[in-house]
Amino acid sequence: MTIKLTGIGVSPGVAIGEALILDTGGVHIPRSYVDAEAVEREWRRLREAISSLSEEIAHDRDEVARQLGDRYAAIFEAHRQMLEDAKLLEELESCIRRERHSAEYAVSVVFGRYIELFKQLKSSLLAERAHDIADLEHRLLSRLVGRDPRRPLQLKKPVLILAHNLTPSETANLDTRYVLGFVTEIGGPSSHTAIVAEALEIPAVVGAGRFLDRVSPGDTVIIDGTRGEVIIRPDDSTLGHFRSLAERFRHRAIRLRGLRCREALTLDGTRIFVMGNIEFPHEVDHCLREGADGIGLYRTEFLYLSRDTEPDEEQHFEVYRLLAEKMAGRPVIIRTFDLGADKLSYLREGNSEEKNPFLGLRSIRLSLRYVPMFCRQLRAIVRASAYGDIRVMFPLVTTLTELRHAKMILRDVMEDLAERGIPFNRHMPVGMMVEVPATVMLIDYFLEEADFISIGTNDLIQYTLAVDRSNRDVVSLYNASDPAVLRLIAATIQAANRAGKPVGLCGQMSANPLYTMLLIGLGLRQFSVPPLAIPEIKKIICSVSVPQCEEVARRAMTLETAQSIDMYLRGELAKVLPDRDLEESEVAS
Ligand code: PEP
Ligand code: MG
Repeated sequence: MTIKLTGIGVSPGVAIGEALILDTGGVHIPRSYVDAEAVEREWRRLREAISSLSEEIAHDRDEVARQLGDRYAAIFEAHRQMLEDAKLLEELESCIRRERHSAEYAVSVVFGRYIELFKQLKSSLLAERAHDIADLEHRLLSRLVGRDPRRPLQLKKPVLILAHNLTPSETANLDTRYVLGFVTEIGGPSSHTAIVAEALEIPAVVGAGRFLDRVSPGDTVIIDGTRGEVIIRPDDSTLGHFRSLAERFRHRAIRLRGLRCREALTLDGTRIFVMGNIEFPHEVDHCLREGADGIGLYRTEFLYLSRDTEPDEEQHFEVYRLLAEKMAGRPVIIRTFDLGADKLSYLREGNSEEKNPFLGLRSIRLSLRYVPMFCRQLRAIVRASAYGDIRVMFPLVTTLTELRHAKMILRDVMEDLAERGIPFNRHMPVGMMVEVPATVMLIDYFLEEADFISIGTNDLIQYTLAVDRSNRDVVSLYNASDPAVLRLIAATIQAANRAGKPVGLCGQMSANPLYTMLLIGLGLRQFSVPPLAIPEIKKIICSVSVPQCEEVARRAMTLETAQSIDMYLRGELAKVLPDRDLEESEVAS
């Protein structure tokens, strides 16, 4: 039966393919076949896994009987009997011997069938047994494939990933030669997983709600990352419709690319800089192709997240130097590592029990806690400044003390390099992100000590509105159009312009065409967006004048709710780009 899900589209486009399910423990179950001579080996592997699990359950049963009595132990015995059930074993054996499936795949198919069967039973008590079977399946699979959730997927053919959740580092490690798109049950619109999906340029939907118990590995799935829709086991006509949609989406991207202009000048001749946000060094090529005016944000934490050990100074340096050289004199803003919160790494393994990780030890706080590690990165950034227009930026600065402390460490690094005669740019600009309302309150003080600032709206929105950016349950409250957020942005831009210090905006908001006129009207002259968004943002800039944008901003700032501001901005955008609505509905229809 076809299943339709609605989630949050976080990376546009349509992907169609076969499902690969990652369960919550990171165990993956590809549909795989084995050679005739490997059949015996697979069956033996499975028998061994079953008897070792059976022994473990028997041990638990005896322990519970000793501590709590036989009554409670009975449930464990029931599990053991389920696992050793003759009919179940027969089906597993047949799946391996006749169908030539791997042990893992046989477990996922046969157990999956039983789970479905139990779920459909009228008695809720019996339906509950589905959980027990799912638990047995999980434990068996963990034995068969190993428990390490960081184990990279060994893919050999294109798939769509279906998962309860993907961490940003798991997402960053997806092999896009084979992973065509993904869907997760949880996650919010500005989570770092969403940002990485956009960087990988694969269609993705997050926060689709619970669905994994209704799909099987190998099911055909459609992911529409533009509209946040997922269709599992589509019928032929739906499949045909989405195939032509995917085709039109490709054409639209090509058309837009053709429209990009070299320099973004408003109709009245004001130069607006459109820079690129990158998570991976190779994206610099995409930025260059799209005509980016520089790299406005390099999220360096992905250098740490895609490996088990910290990169050393040379590894950092090689990446930064390459970026500087490729951008050939255009600015490259390197943000020091913004680890923590949803971007955990080996660094935090012993310390990942924070109740509110977004309010915890993340970003600059972590850098100031792990100073030697911070220094290794800073040394590499400073050294790379000899090869191009490198600028350094600190994330999540909340107090002046933090900024001063970080700058002091940077000064020490520079002094040490100077003593050793290592070349670097002594005037390398030092900037900071504005992501916390407290920072906006004191922005004049920060502007005296920072060479430039960049507004991180992804975090600014969550900290202003008290809405977790990665939580689908509060997604309707997470809104860049909220007047409180807009006032903070306006105050920051105005303060920077007054102080004569460059100000950019690198949160996802700057890539949303809805806000381009508003932001120009508020005085912003530097946007930093994912490379894919550069042509469209440039196109809008070239279609408007500054006085027109100022009028839009003036009107928008008088409105009281996010909804009325949204509606107003939609209307204004439609006036400037009447074709855009047409194109959107064409893609969506
Ligand atoms: C932001 O918060 O807007 C930002 C650009 O940083 P990140 O999304 O990496 O937290
Ligand atoms: Mg941020």
